[in-house]
Amino acid sequence: MSQERTYIMVKPDGVERGLVGKIISRFEQRGYKLAAIRLLKADQALLSQHYADLAEKPFFPRLMAYMTSGPVVGMVWEGKDAVRTGRTLLGETNPLNSAPGTIRGDFCIDVGKNLCHGSDSVENANKEIALWFPQGVCSYDRPSDRLIYE
Ligand code: UDP
Ligand code: MG
Repeated sequence: MSQERTYIMVKPDGVERGLVGKIISRFEQRGYKLAAIRLLKADQALLSQHYADLAEKPFFPRLMAYMTSGPVVGMVWEGKDAVRTGRTLLGETNPLNSAPGTIRGDFCIDVGKNLCHGSDSVENANKEIALWFPQGVCSYDRPSDRLIYE
C-alpha cells in the first residue's frame, strides 16, 4: 500500500467558522490516516515560504492578510493517492467552480475565503510537511487499513 502523504490546512476562516471537524471528517470518512495535526497562528515568514511561488501575484498581500487573520490547523493525511485525492476532496481553487460534495463546493463562495489548502504534488507535499512539521510526523499501524485497502 502506498504511504503517500499530503499537507492539508484549514485556513483561518475555516477555524473561525467551526468547520475543522467537518473537514477532518471528510478525510477520515474516505479512509485516510491522520499522521500529524497542529493548531497555530502562522507568521509572515512561515507563510512566505509556504506560498513562495505566489509572491509576485497581485493577490499575495491579501492572501498574507487572510492567512494571518487567525489560527490555522495544519494536518498531514496519509494513504493511497493522498495528494491528488486530497485536492479532489477540497474542490477547485475558486469555490464557485467546485462541485457540491467537495469541501469548498459545500461550504464557501469566494476564492479569497476558500477554507482550506492542499498540496498540489508529491514533491510540494514533502516540502510543506517538512516546513509545517519540522518535528516530524507520527507513524503507526492502523489495523482497520485491512478494511480499506485490498
Ligand atoms: N488565491 C486568491 N486569488 C486568486 C488565486 C488564489 O486569493 O486569484 C488564494 C486562494 O486562497 C488560494 C491561494 O491563494 O487557495 C493559493 O493559490 P493556489 O493557486 O496555490 O490555489 P490552491 O492550491 O490553494 O487551490
Ligand atoms: Mg496551491
